[in-house]
Amino acid sequence: MLYPWQTEQWRSLSLQHEQQRLPHAIILSGVNGLGQLSLANKIVAKVLCEQSVTSAPCGLCHNCQVFAAGNHPDHSFVAPDESGKQIKIEQIRELKQKHTLTTNIAKWKTAIIWPAENMNISASNSLLKLLEEPQSNTLLILISVKPQLLPITIRSRCQKISLTVPTNKQAIEWIEEQEGKTYKEIEIKQALSLANGAPIEALSLLSSDSLKFLEQIAKDFNAVLGGVANPVILSQQWQKYDLSIVLHYLQLKLKQRLIKNIKNSSNSIVPNDWAIYDCIINTTKLLSSSHNLNKALLIEQFMVESMNSISSNSTFGRNN
Ligand SMILES: [Zn+2]
Repeated sequence: MLYPWQTEQWRSLSLQHEQQRLPHAIILSGVNGLGQLSLANKIVAKVLCEQSVTSAPCGLCHNCQVFAAGNHPDHSFVAPDESGKQIKIEQIRELKQKHTLTTNIAKWKTAIIWPAENMNISASNSLLKLLEEPQSNTLLILISVKPQLLPITIRSRCQKISLTVPTNKQAIEWIEEQEGKTYKEIEIKQALSLANGAPIEALSLLSSDSLKFLEQIAKDFNAVLGGVANPVILSQQWQKYDLSIVLHYLQLKLKQRLIKNIKNSSNSIVPNDWAIYDCIINTTKLLSSSHNLNKALLIEQFMVESMNSISSNSTFGRNN
Protein backbone atom coordinates (compact mmCIF):
# COMPACT_ATOMS: atom_id res chain seq x y z
CA MET A 1 0.00 0.00 0.00
CA LEU A 2 1.16 3.48 -0.86
CA TYR A 3 0.00 6.45 1.21
CA PRO A 4 -0.66 9.79 -0.52
CA TRP A 5 2.32 11.48 1.22
CA GLN A 6 4.74 8.80 -0.05
CA THR A 7 4.26 9.43 -3.77
CA GLU A 8 7.42 11.46 -4.30
CA GLN A 9 9.71 8.96 -2.54
CA TRP A 10 8.06 6.06 -4.34
CA ARG A 11 8.52 7.72 -7.75
CA SER A 12 12.15 8.47 -7.06
CA LEU A 13 12.94 4.91 -5.90
CA SER A 14 10.95 3.35 -8.75
CA LEU A 15 12.90 5.43 -11.23
CA GLN A 16 16.21 4.42 -9.64
CA HIS A 17 15.18 0.77 -9.95
CA GLU A 18 14.11 1.17 -13.57
CA GLN A 19 17.39 2.88 -14.39
CA GLN A 20 19.30 0.16 -12.53
CA ARG A 21 20.86 2.56 -10.08
CA LEU A 22 19.10 1.51 -6.91
CA PRO A 23 21.54 1.73 -3.97
CA HIS A 24 22.46 -1.40 -2.01
CA ALA A 25 21.24 0.11 1.23
CA ILE A 26 18.67 2.71 2.18
CA ILE A 27 17.79 4.33 5.48
CA LEU A 28 14.10 5.17 5.43
CA SER A 29 13.38 7.70 8.15
CA GLY A 30 10.67 10.14 9.23
CA VAL A 31 8.51 10.49 12.34
CA ASN A 32 6.56 7.52 13.61
CA GLY A 33 3.26 6.89 11.86
CA LEU A 34 4.02 7.70 8.24
CA GLY A 35 3.82 4.11 7.01
CA GLN A 36 7.55 3.55 6.43
CA LEU A 37 7.17 -0.23 6.58
CA SER A 38 4.42 -0.12 4.02
CA LEU A 39 6.59 1.86 1.59
CA ALA A 40 9.58 -0.44 2.21
CA ASN A 41 7.42 -3.49 1.45
CA LYS A 42 6.19 -1.88 -1.74
CA ILE A 43 9.74 -1.19 -2.94
CA VAL A 44 10.85 -4.74 -2.08
CA ALA A 45 7.80 -6.16 -3.88
CA LYS A 46 8.71 -4.15 -6.97
CA VAL A 47 12.30 -5.36 -6.89
CA LEU A 48 11.29 -9.01 -6.46
CA CYS A 49 8.44 -8.95 -9.02
CA GLU A 50 9.09 -10.75 -12.31
CA GLN A 51 7.03 -8.30 -14.38
CA SER A 52 7.60 -4.88 -12.95
CA VAL A 53 10.59 -3.29 -14.58
CA THR A 54 8.71 -0.13 -15.40
CA SER A 55 5.62 -0.26 -13.22
CA ALA A 56 4.31 -1.17 -9.78
CA PRO A 57 4.60 -4.81 -8.64
CA CYS A 58 2.10 -6.90 -10.64
CA GLY A 59 0.71 -8.80 -7.64
CA LEU A 60 0.11 -11.84 -9.83
CA CYS A 61 3.48 -13.47 -10.52
CA HIS A 62 4.92 -16.22 -8.33
CA ASN A 63 7.37 -13.83 -6.62
CA CYS A 64 4.63 -11.31 -5.81
CA GLN A 65 2.38 -14.01 -4.39
CA VAL A 66 5.07 -15.62 -2.25
CA PHE A 67 6.14 -12.19 -0.95
CA ALA A 68 2.54 -11.23 -0.14
CA ALA A 69 2.17 -14.50 1.76
CA GLY A 70 5.12 -13.45 3.90
CA ASN A 71 7.52 -16.26 3.06
CA HIS A 72 9.63 -15.20 0.12
CA PRO A 73 12.89 -17.18 0.35
CA ASP A 74 15.01 -14.30 -0.99
CA HIS A 75 13.64 -11.72 1.44
CA SER A 76 14.48 -11.29 5.11
CA PHE A 77 12.49 -9.29 7.59
CA VAL A 78 14.55 -8.51 10.68
CA ALA A 79 12.75 -7.14 13.76
CA PRO A 80 13.08 -7.55 17.53
CA ASP A 81 11.47 -10.68 18.99
CA GLU A 82 9.33 -8.40 21.13
CA SER A 83 8.38 -4.78 20.52
CA GLY A 84 10.88 -2.40 22.11
CA LYS A 85 13.57 -5.07 22.51
CA GLN A 86 16.92 -5.18 20.75
CA ILE A 87 17.80 -6.75 17.42
CA LYS A 88 20.48 -9.29 18.22
CA ILE A 89 23.69 -10.23 16.41
CA GLU A 90 22.34 -13.75 15.70
CA GLN A 91 19.55 -12.19 13.62
CA ILE A 92 22.04 -10.18 11.55
CA ARG A 93 24.30 -13.24 11.17
CA GLU A 94 21.36 -15.18 9.81
CA LEU A 95 20.62 -12.36 7.37
CA LYS A 96 24.26 -12.27 6.23
CA GLN A 97 24.31 -15.99 5.71
CA LYS A 98 21.22 -15.74 3.55
CA HIS A 99 22.84 -12.99 1.51
CA THR A 100 25.92 -15.10 0.74
CA LEU A 101 23.77 -17.78 -0.94
CA THR A 102 22.51 -17.51 -4.49
CA THR A 103 18.94 -16.38 -4.97
CA ASN A 104 16.18 -18.96 -4.87
CA ILE A 105 13.34 -17.70 -7.03
CA ALA A 106 13.96 -13.99 -7.59
CA LYS A 107 16.78 -12.05 -9.21
CA TRP A 108 17.35 -10.00 -6.06
CA LYS A 109 18.10 -10.53 -2.38
CA THR A 110 16.22 -8.11 -0.18
CA ALA A 111 15.95 -7.32 3.51
CA ILE A 112 14.07 -4.92 5.76
CA ILE A 113 15.41 -4.13 9.23
CA TRP A 114 12.79 -2.52 11.47
CA PRO A 115 13.35 -0.55 13.64
CA ALA A 116 17.03 -0.33 12.69
CA GLU A 117 18.00 1.75 15.73
CA ASN A 118 17.11 -1.27 17.89
CA MET A 119 20.19 -3.16 16.67
CA ASN A 120 22.60 -3.59 19.55
CA ILE A 121 26.28 -2.67 19.02
CA SER A 122 27.41 -6.13 17.99
CA ALA A 123 24.47 -6.43 15.56
CA SER A 124 25.39 -3.04 14.03
CA ASN A 125 29.03 -4.08 13.65
CA SER A 126 28.00 -7.30 12.02
CA LEU A 127 25.72 -5.47 9.60
CA LEU A 128 28.53 -3.07 8.73
CA LYS A 129 30.53 -5.94 7.19
CA LEU A 130 27.60 -6.64 4.88
CA LEU A 131 27.40 -2.97 3.90
CA GLU A 132 31.13 -2.79 3.27
CA GLU A 133 31.07 -5.63 0.77
CA PRO A 134 27.76 -5.19 -1.05
CA GLN A 135 26.85 -7.78 -3.65
CA SER A 136 25.07 -6.92 -6.85
CA ASN A 137 21.27 -7.12 -6.87
CA THR A 138 20.88 -6.76 -3.14
CA LEU A 139 18.66 -4.25 -1.41
CA LEU A 140 18.73 -3.57 2.29
CA ILE A 141 16.19 -1.15 3.77
CA LEU A 142 16.80 0.12 7.29
CA ILE A 143 13.71 1.75 8.73
CA SER A 144 14.38 4.17 11.55
CA VAL A 145 12.54 6.98 13.31
CA LYS A 146 15.80 7.78 15.11
CA PRO A 147 18.49 7.46 12.41
CA GLN A 148 20.80 9.60 14.54
CA LEU A 149 21.17 6.58 16.84
CA LEU A 150 22.68 4.49 14.05
CA PRO A 151 26.49 4.41 13.91
CA ILE A 152 27.93 6.93 11.47
CA THR A 153 29.74 4.07 9.71
CA ILE A 154 26.36 2.58 8.82
CA ARG A 155 24.72 5.89 7.96
CA SER A 156 27.53 6.85 5.59
CA ARG A 157 27.00 3.67 3.56
CA CYS A 158 23.28 4.12 3.01
CA GLN A 159 21.21 6.40 0.84
CA LYS A 160 18.98 8.45 3.11
CA ILE A 161 15.33 8.83 2.28
CA SER A 162 13.14 10.75 4.65
CA LEU A 163 9.37 10.69 4.63
CA THR A 164 7.93 14.09 5.42
CA VAL A 165 4.57 14.77 7.04
CA PRO A 166 1.76 15.95 4.77
CA THR A 167 0.15 19.35 5.27
CA ASN A 168 -2.46 19.48 8.04
CA LYS A 169 -5.17 19.83 5.39
CA GLN A 170 -4.04 16.69 3.55
CA ALA A 171 -3.69 14.78 6.81
CA ILE A 172 -7.20 15.75 7.98
CA GLU A 173 -8.65 14.77 4.61
CA TRP A 174 -6.93 11.40 4.74
CA ILE A 175 -8.15 10.70 8.30
CA GLU A 176 -11.71 11.68 7.35
CA GLU A 177 -11.59 9.32 4.36
CA GLN A 178 -10.76 6.30 6.55
CA GLU A 179 -13.55 3.96 7.38
CA GLY A 180 -14.97 3.65 10.85
CA LYS A 181 -15.85 6.38 13.28
CA THR A 182 -16.07 10.02 12.35
CA TYR A 183 -14.16 12.46 14.50
CA LYS A 184 -14.56 16.13 15.26
CA GLU A 185 -12.05 18.32 13.44
CA ILE A 186 -10.75 19.67 16.73
CA GLU A 187 -10.02 16.11 17.91
CA ILE A 188 -8.25 15.31 14.64
CA LYS A 189 -6.14 18.46 14.94
CA GLN A 190 -5.20 17.61 18.51
CA ALA A 191 -4.27 14.04 17.56
CA LEU A 192 -2.21 15.27 14.61
CA SER A 193 -0.34 17.73 16.74
CA LEU A 194 0.44 14.95 19.26
CA ALA A 195 1.56 12.67 16.44
CA ASN A 196 3.94 15.31 15.02
CA GLY A 197 1.68 15.54 11.99
CA ALA A 198 1.83 11.83 11.12
CA PRO A 199 -1.66 10.76 9.95
CA ILE A 200 -1.42 7.02 10.74
CA GLU A 201 -0.22 7.70 14.28
CA ALA A 202 -2.95 10.34 14.71
CA LEU A 203 -5.60 7.89 13.53
CA SER A 204 -4.30 5.30 15.97
CA LEU A 205 -4.55 7.84 18.83
CA LEU A 206 -8.11 8.69 17.80
CA SER A 207 -9.31 5.12 17.43
CA SER A 208 -7.75 3.95 20.68
CA ASP A 209 -9.38 6.75 22.69
CA SER A 210 -5.89 7.81 23.74
CA LEU A 211 -6.91 11.44 24.00
CA LYS A 212 -9.09 10.55 26.99
CA PHE A 213 -6.22 8.65 28.66
CA LEU A 214 -3.96 11.62 28.07
CA GLU A 215 -6.39 13.96 29.79
CA GLN A 216 -6.26 11.64 32.79
CA ILE A 217 -2.47 11.66 32.62
CA ALA A 218 -2.42 15.47 32.74
CA LYS A 219 -4.68 15.33 35.82
CA ASP A 220 -2.40 12.74 37.45
CA PHE A 221 0.66 14.84 36.74
CA ASN A 222 -1.10 17.83 38.24
CA ALA A 223 -1.78 15.75 41.36
CA VAL A 224 1.90 14.81 41.59
CA LEU A 225 2.93 18.45 41.35
CA GLY A 226 0.34 19.35 43.95
CA GLY A 227 1.83 16.75 46.28
CA VAL A 228 -1.37 14.69 46.44
CA ALA A 229 -0.26 11.70 44.33
CA ASN A 230 2.58 9.25 44.70
CA PRO A 231 5.10 9.49 41.83
CA VAL A 232 6.29 5.90 42.36
CA ILE A 233 2.79 4.46 41.95
CA LEU A 234 1.98 6.72 39.01
CA SER A 235 5.23 5.95 37.21
CA GLN A 236 4.26 2.27 37.33
CA GLN A 237 0.88 3.12 35.80
CA TRP A 238 2.36 5.33 33.11
CA GLN A 239 4.61 2.53 31.88
CA LYS A 240 1.84 1.16 29.70
CA TYR A 241 1.73 4.36 27.64
CA ASP A 242 4.00 5.55 24.85
CA LEU A 243 6.17 7.92 26.86
CA SER A 244 7.08 10.15 23.93
CA ILE A 245 3.36 10.79 23.33
CA VAL A 246 2.77 11.44 27.04
CA LEU A 247 5.61 13.97 27.22
CA HIS A 248 4.53 15.59 24.00
CA TYR A 249 0.99 15.93 25.36
CA LEU A 250 2.16 17.51 28.64
CA GLN A 251 4.40 19.83 26.64
CA LEU A 252 1.49 20.91 24.42
CA LYS A 253 -0.78 21.55 27.40
CA LEU A 254 1.89 23.63 29.06
CA LYS A 255 2.65 25.52 25.85
CA GLN A 256 -1.06 26.36 25.46
CA ARG A 257 -1.09 27.72 29.00
CA LEU A 258 2.06 29.77 28.49
CA ILE A 259 0.64 31.30 25.31
CA LYS A 260 -2.64 32.03 27.09
CA ASN A 261 -0.76 33.74 29.90
CA ILE A 262 1.30 35.82 27.48
CA LYS A 263 -1.84 36.95 25.63
CA ASN A 264 -3.66 37.65 28.84
CA SER A 265 -1.32 40.19 30.41
CA SER A 266 -3.30 40.20 33.66
CA ASN A 267 -1.87 36.72 34.29
CA SER A 268 1.86 36.93 34.82
CA ILE A 269 3.99 34.01 33.66
CA VAL A 270 4.98 31.77 36.51
CA PRO A 271 8.67 30.82 36.44
CA ASN A 272 7.55 27.36 37.59
CA ASP A 273 5.96 26.77 34.21
CA TRP A 274 9.31 27.21 32.52
CA ALA A 275 10.98 24.91 35.05
CA ILE A 276 8.47 22.14 34.27
CA TYR A 277 8.85 22.84 30.58
CA ASP A 278 12.61 22.28 30.94
CA CYS A 279 12.00 18.99 32.75
CA ILE A 280 9.77 17.81 29.90
CA ILE A 281 12.33 18.82 27.25
CA ASN A 282 15.20 17.15 29.13
CA THR A 283 13.30 13.89 29.57
CA THR A 284 12.24 13.93 25.91
CA LYS A 285 15.90 14.36 24.91
CA LEU A 286 16.94 11.47 27.15
CA LEU A 287 14.21 9.31 25.67
CA SER A 288 15.24 9.98 22.08
CA SER A 289 18.94 9.50 22.72
CA SER A 290 18.67 5.85 23.66
CA HIS A 291 16.49 2.83 23.05
CA ASN A 292 17.51 0.94 26.14
CA LEU A 293 16.23 3.03 29.04
CA ASN A 294 14.53 1.89 32.21
CA LYS A 295 11.13 3.40 31.50
CA ALA A 296 9.73 3.30 35.04
CA LEU A 297 12.87 4.91 36.43
CA LEU A 298 12.85 7.61 33.76
CA ILE A 299 9.21 8.51 34.51
CA GLU A 300 9.87 8.55 38.24
CA GLN A 301 12.90 10.81 37.77
CA PHE A 302 10.85 13.10 35.57
CA MET A 303 8.13 13.41 38.19
CA VAL A 304 10.53 13.98 41.05
CA GLU A 305 12.52 16.58 39.09
CA SER A 306 9.30 18.37 38.14
CA MET A 307 8.18 18.36 41.77
CA ASN A 308 11.54 19.69 42.93
CA SER A 309 11.58 22.40 40.30
CA ILE A 310 8.46 24.11 41.53
CA SER A 311 7.16 25.49 44.76
CA SER A 312 4.32 23.72 46.53
CA ASN A 313 1.57 26.16 45.59
CA SER A 314 1.69 25.73 41.83
CA THR A 315 -0.19 23.17 39.84
CA PHE A 316 0.19 22.06 36.25
CA GLY A 317 -3.40 22.10 35.15
CA ARG A 318 -4.39 25.41 36.67
CA ASN A 319 -6.10 27.80 34.25
CA ASN A 320 -6.69 24.94 31.80
ZN1 LIG B 1 4.85 -9.63 -9.78
